[in-house]
Amino acid sequence: MNVNLKINGVAYSVPKNATILDACKAASIHIPTLCYLKDINAIGACRLCLVEVKGARSMVASCVAPVNEGMEIFTNTPQVRRARKLNLELILSDHDKSCLSCVRNKSCELQKYCVEYGVTDENYFKGKTNEFSKDESTLSIVRDNNKCILCRRCVAACKVTQNVGVIGANDRGFDTHIGCAFEKDLSDSPCILCGQCIVVCPTGALSERDQTDEVLEAIADKSKHALVCTAPSVRATLGECFGNEPGTDVEGKMVAALRRIGFEGVFNMNLTADLTILEEAHELIERIQNGGKLPLITSCSPGWIKFCEHYYPEFVENLSSCKSPQQMFGAIAKTYYAQKMGWNPEDIIFVSVIPCTAKKFEVKRDGQSAAGVYDVDYAITTRELGKMIERSGISFNSLPDEDFDNPFQLGSGAGAIFGATGGVMEAALRTAAEAILNKPLEAVDFTEVRGVEGVKKATYRIGDLELKVAVASGTSNAAELLDLVKSGEEEFHFIEIMACPGGCVNGGGQPTQPSYVRNYVPLKELRAAVLYNADKNLGIRKSHENPQVIEIYEEFLGNPGSHKAHDILHTHYIKRGK
Ligand code: SF4
Ligand code: SF4
Ligand code: SF4
Repeated sequence: MNVNLKINGVAYSVPKNATILDACKAASIHIPTLCYLKDINAIGACRLCLVEVKGARSMVASCVAPVNEGMEIFTNTPQVRRARKLNLELILSDHDKSCLSCVRNKSCELQKYCVEYGVTDENYFKGKTNEFSKDESTLSIVRDNNKCILCRRCVAACKVTQNVGVIGANDRGFDTHIGCAFEKDLSDSPCILCGQCIVVCPTGALSERDQTDEVLEAIADKSKHALVCTAPSVRATLGECFGNEPGTDVEGKMVAALRRIGFEGVFNMNLTADLTILEEAHELIERIQNGGKLPLITSCSPGWIKFCEHYYPEFVENLSSCKSPQQMFGAIAKTYYAQKMGWNPEDIIFVSVIPCTAKKFEVKRDGQSAAGVYDVDYAITTRELGKMIERSGISFNSLPDEDFDNPFQLGSGAGAIFGATGGVMEAALRTAAEAILNKPLEAVDFTEVRGVEGVKKATYRIGDLELKVAVASGTSNAAELLDLVKSGEEEFHFIEIMACPGGCVNGGGQPTQPSYVRNYVPLKELRAAVLYNADKNLGIRKSHENPQVIEIYEEFLGNPGSHKAHDILHTHYIKRGK
């Protein structure tokens, strides 16, 4: 059912259940918003989306106001523009306006609207201001409430999307600020470090712990060997840092940029995604055939691991003991590769570029030091890599395409799709099914586990086995699925869980996009399409057919699941409190 209305004098017909904001969007009119986030945060708090409605006593917040038959809406009157400007000035009156050095300079939504509405940094409302100390207690996330505008998007992401809810509004009135209960530091809370709060924050109030200076220093130290590998999803998103449309594949330019930054070896993490699959598929078959703990649950998402350890400790033994592809790479670099090159593992600085903030925590976990030193020295986000490229004076978009370095150059199609929800499951199925059937698979596309839905389930007949699998992304969805397993309502052999909705393509370390993109552009789908296209076009689509992975087993590890593979590629998890 539609209603008829007018926006700025032009007639439109829009769905009856639309808000004024939706109606304006459909009419190609951009209404500024700072607090609104589709589906999770419609609270009408920032008052930037004010519009005039004929007959209404005052202006209305368009993000929460429903449309009505015959409504006449005005979005661009002098009164509307004045009201929006005034609200921006009010927000800025208690804001640390250090835009020049701010992590979000040029990508800040507040800054953008201030420029658009002609707001300067003059203080229009002199008086008391707040001064907050930064929360830098975790290895992953920094909170600077001096730049917080109380939009509460982070609170909604943490509670609604992630079912974690460790942050909220403390105090009241002028003293209101976002933090953990009882003013605890984030590191003292059961935060899973997923970074979903960062990617929705419109300002510089939330960011990852920046390690770009440390990495650049390490590269400059010529007594060390600085090696880097990039996670499957980074090539699908890095281009956004340089103005490319979401869904642009920049693998070749990314490699060229890393080489020009000065890394001695630029490697492809898709290869250790393949390695993970060989170990995990072996573990799955072992558990099925020998009565091991089922369902086996994937372990490559450190945000999910932390969620499991805090909130579902009864499933810790279900977790695969495989390290994540990032950690496997560091472990292989400092054992196999160090041996091959005649290097001391202590002289290798291993950097991974990842879509994730939880991986900064993962590198410092116990059981992640195969050579007696940390497997990975630095995990930097896609955003940090973008910054390093800019700081190195590299003109990204005009770089030539280049290939990764050998002997870790090749990834299969199965390794490529690791970055999207369902990708790990599909990759594992390709290998496990072939191992069980002991013959090549005719069809390698397991399309039932693809797509961005929060929970997906499928049953596959593999020989005599009816394999039941499930996939969840976003920890709210994971909780929903685990509750079904816990209650005995559903049974599965194998479950894939990724902490971020849509998987790593939408990770907490990925480029930020303003809400007008986030709300209306299918970011997850566009980014995932890059990975599925790569899979389709790669000659090798199964992890166990990757010749460089086969070589690592032949020269060093023996077989999947061997003692040596266990020592180097596997780890353990713990039960933590809430
Ligand atoms: S959050 Fe935005 S407005 Fe505030 S200092 Fe940073 S860039 Fe400037
Ligand atoms: S990192 Fe994740 S769990 Fe922690 S506060 Fe942010 S959204 Fe919540
Ligand atoms: S930290 Fe960012 S997302 Fe959270 S309330 Fe403040 S400005 Fe909004």
